[in-house]
Amino acid sequence: MALPKFFLGEMTWPEIREVVKEDRVAVVPVATYEDHGHHLPIDTDVLLCTEVCRRTAERFREEIVLVPPITHGYSPHHMDFPGTLTIDGHTFINYVLDICKSLAHHGFKRILLVNGHGSNTPFLEVAARLTIIETEGKVLCGAVNYWALGKVRQVAAQIRETELGGMSHACEFETSLYLALKPELVDMSKATREMSYPSKSLVTDLTGGRPPDASHLVMMPYWSTFSSSGVRGDATKATREKGEKFLAAAIEGLIELVREVRQCPIRPRVDHH
Ligand SMILES: [Zn+2]
Repeated sequence: MALPKFFLGEMTWPEIREVVKEDRVAVVPVATYEDHGHHLPIDTDVLLCTEVCRRTAERFREEIVLVPPITHGYSPHHMDFPGTLTIDGHTFINYVLDICKSLAHHGFKRILLVNGHGSNTPFLEVAARLTIIETEGKVLCGAVNYWALGKVRQVAAQIRETELGGMSHACEFETSLYLALKPELVDMSKATREMSYPSKSLVTDLTGGRPPDASHLVMMPYWSTFSSSGVRGDATKATREKGEKFLAAAIEGLIELVREVRQCPIRPRVDHH
């Protein structure tokens, strides 16, 4: 017997009508195209995020419907680097919201936006919240950064060689993952270390860690004001072996989260007027 399909784009509409009844989680990868140093292609966020989602969906196809990725996101602060493609913030929110509302219209009740680009984060949170509000609570929608999956954070803490701030952008983490996926496109002879954070409260790390005395400041200056190569962190510490461990952790972390979302009750609202 053929394996169940998992990619929405490869299903016929009668198949989608049936698949909706299985209450699988609709997983939507979201990323962007932007500079990732001299050693990585601009598709880094797209490749990493879509591969994590695709490999997870392929392995756990009874639990996930993989939605075609949203490959363009919010990156105006990267526009000093050639090749960056960016979408206006309001357009981006509305675009993601329209995709989620389309899925809801067809009967999907659980939607997970899986993000691969840091600066998409606040916009996806808004899109996820609005999906719940605009479907009047009939649909659950959440967003997660794939590097913030619990399992990834655990593994990163165990195997990293860089100090805090070394895993941020085109860094030990992303470069390792790219090496695990398409090593032929990574030029490690050009990998650099750039750790010029403007101040202690702007030290950000993909693990969520911050210096103990730092405040949780949110501020994003233009990228070219603090990085000359596009790297933020330390790409020289990247290895394919680490990338394979990050990838395995991301797949494990994503299926755990999908199951959590799948088990989350969709409770009716209570109007206390
Ligand atoms: Zn990136």
